[in-house]
Amino acid sequence: MDLSTPAGAAALRIDGARLWQSLMELARIGATPKGGVCRLALTDLDRQGRDLFVQWARAAGCSIRVDAIGNIFARRAGMDDSLPPVTTGSHIDTQPTGGKFDGNYGVLAGLEVLRTLGDAGVRTRAPLEVAVWTNEEGSRFVPVMMGSGVFAGAFTLAHALAQRDAQGTSVAEALAAIGYAGEDGPAHAIGAYFEAHIEQGPVLEQHGCVIGVVSAALGQRWYDVTVQGMEAHAGPTPMPLRRDALLAASALVAEVNRIAMERLPHARATVGSLEVFPNSRNVIPGRVRFSVDLRAPGDEQLLEMDTALRAACERVAAERGLAIDVQQVVYFPPQPFTPHLVEAVRTHAAGLGYSAMDVVSGAGHDAVYVARMAPAAMIFVPCAGGVSHNEIEDAEPAHLEAGCNVLLRAMLAAAGVAQESAA
Ligand SMILES: [Zn+2]
Repeated sequence: MDLSTPAGAAALRIDGARLWQSLMELARIGATPKGGVCRLALTDLDRQGRDLFVQWARAAGCSIRVDAIGNIFARRAGMDDSLPPVTTGSHIDTQPTGGKFDGNYGVLAGLEVLRTLGDAGVRTRAPLEVAVWTNEEGSRFVPVMMGSGVFAGAFTLAHALAQRDAQGTSVAEALAAIGYAGEDGPAHAIGAYFEAHIEQGPVLEQHGCVIGVVSAALGQRWYDVTVQGMEAHAGPTPMPLRRDALLAASALVAEVNRIAMERLPHARATVGSLEVFPNSRNVIPGRVRFSVDLRAPGDEQLLEMDTALRAACERVAAERGLAIDVQQVVYFPPQPFTPHLVEAVRTHAAGLGYSAMDVVSGAGHDAVYVARMAPAAMIFVPCAGGVSHNEIEDAEPAHLEAGCNVLLRAMLAAAGVAQESAA
């Protein structure tokens, strides 16, 4: 069959071994002794990873453009380059103790799609593009998802460039140092965006499913809660007379958990950090500060959880004679993905014979920002034990291959297959 015809293109499959080999090769840059990767954003290791991607993309026939926040766009021309590209991508920066697959998979799956089309001589009507978004992890520079955030207008370029790492180096300085400070200009239009990513959670593995059809990313509200009681000597102060801030905080930790447990399956609520003052073994704690992270797929539910949190704080404060202050510090609205693209992922997974289920993304991804300005969807594949942001992060080659085949089909369908050529 001539693979360059529309019917033939449906028979195309990506090369899973080549995808795996590219993942392993990229993972050598910043490899850690425990088998992970440490390649922080805008370091020289990040430059090496970027250079390797650019070299591979050029070899696959792409033109390269870098924007002012360092996002790389590798473009494969279409028959009609006046059409907005069908774009895929993710990030190649990692956590300090990161793995080989988080982000890297989405970038290299996109590259593998372009390589496959090149080998088969398939031309698309719209151009195709692989994006490498700058500083998704937010480990060296805050905010997270910086490159896609600037691109989608979530915050300004000037704000992002001015951020500094712990050593005082700014994003602007770091971009210049690695040679990835590109052209300023408005974001280009994207016709459709797909991002393949490891799930970073255990749901697909638990259900024995290969493809996660991601319907939405959870909205998030983050808080700093401060409980003000009174320090007193642990010996002489009788129990009924205490204003123990840690005891009140403990009650609230349990309440926070309950707020999500009453809203299963998608709600999440976490106290991840707790500071006790003065943190001394024979002093009743006078003050406790803790974080609360609430997540839900819908704004209404998230607001309900916010109300429940504030009510619990008021109740505990009244019961125990303490002051409790609740400050919201972060709000990410829930981001539904574009229904017809989500449906396309579902249909193509089924068409390829892969087991699939609908999931929500509990984590932030570049696709969440891109979805603010273009139709977008995500494709999840399982990772071993649901473990990510960890050097032992692992994934099955067959699952990575499956996700990449779904990506290939989804991108081809969105871009349109143009014409025959001598493949
Ligand atoms: Zn990621």
